[in-house]
Amino acid sequence: MDLFTKCKNFTRAKEIQAAGIYPYFIPIARSRGTEVEIDGRRLLMIGSNNYLGLTHHPHVTEAAMKAVEQYGTSPTGSRFLNGTLELHEELEARLARFLKRESALVFSTGFQTNLGVISALCGKDDVVIIDRDDHASIVDGCRLSFAEIRKFRHNDMADLERHLVRAQNDGFQGKLIIVDGAYSMLGNLADLPAIARLARAYGARLLVDEAHSVGVCGAHGRGAAEALGVEKDVDLIVGTFSKSFASLGGFVAGPENVIHYIKHHARSLIFSAAIPASAAAAALAALDVLESEPHLRTRLLRNAQKMREGLTKLGFRVGPSETAIIPVIIGDQTRMFLFWKALFEGGAFTNPVTIPAVPAGMDLIRTSYMATHTDEQLDRALEIFETAGKRLGLIGGSATYAATHEQAS
Ligand code: PMP
Repeated sequence: MDLFTKCKNFTRAKEIQAAGIYPYFIPIARSRGTEVEIDGRRLLMIGSNNYLGLTHHPHVTEAAMKAVEQYGTSPTGSRFLNGTLELHEELEARLARFLKRESALVFSTGFQTNLGVISALCGKDDVVIIDRDDHASIVDGCRLSFAEIRKFRHNDMADLERHLVRAQNDGFQGKLIIVDGAYSMLGNLADLPAIARLARAYGARLLVDEAHSVGVCGAHGRGAAEALGVEKDVDLIVGTFSKSFASLGGFVAGPENVIHYIKHHARSLIFSAAIPASAAAAALAALDVLESEPHLRTRLLRNAQKMREGLTKLGFRVGPSETAIIPVIIGDQTRMFLFWKALFEGGAFTNPVTIPAVPAGMDLIRTSYMATHTDEQLDRALEIFETAGKRLGLIGGSATYAATHEQAS
């Protein structure tokens, strides 16, 4: 069969486009952070990862503009050769200090960080044990590494222990457990205290991807490990600048010799261009704000709590969310797309999530909140959800949705 035949046969997206409910790759004309302009309409943005709302903070935007003046638009090369700017090293030093780690290393994206870190550290004689719900970049990093990949049921500690026992019996050299600090679709936290205990008991290293939790969780915003009091038990932290840090890029932080090793072995770092000065400066400035304005984090968690309560009261099923990510679980794919469209028409930008990001039958609308959303905006979001939910019979006594609820739980 010709390589391209599958492309011709791939019709699902076009069918959804023809039905007028295609929700992906929507071009935004203008952003004000909490609100965006699309096709001449203003929509409430409740589908970004701009948790602290810093993409439009004057300290952050000014820093990015000044960096362009000083360094130009791009370093046009890898960190390894011509692409390291003083700003990258300043950012790494600041991150290490903030995270209370010996050293940190900046990559071009969070995705590339996971690819580079996992494949640099693990090889064919090692085993990587990951949560089934871990981010795609972790799965791909494991695949690149040639290590044995074992997946445990989401946040299921008995299953993790079973895998650790098996890994021990199978005689692998190194063992690495990798989990997300906060899960990007359900918004819940990893059971880090139990995971850390098991890692220690079975001599495994622990890497936590704090992409959605750094800046959001913990008294100082250091992430889920800080919030759960296990920072000392976590060997390596991975994170991204594309969420709370209001920029683009990724990082890993940990012991100096491990970071030094990764720096000289991670192919996604060595063979890819460095982030531009504007992105590094924005991340640095976001870190300033993150450290000096802790009330933003308090406000964010309060906003999320208001929405969790509001959506639950309306009759929606919000799942196990503990962060600024709140899923609204619908179950059926077509109903989820129809609901997304009704929300969009009602004036809310949300994210429709289907397989493979969630298991079949768990289709959901992912909503996420910002510290900068006002009460008026959140009340408007709830009104939009109420109107759309009633229009589709999802709330207000629908037997069908109640049945879906049961199935999905
Ligand atoms: N890790 C996790 C847990 C993520 O959710 C994401 C992005 N959604 C990434 C890594 C990748 O980050 P980036 O956008 O910087 O590539």
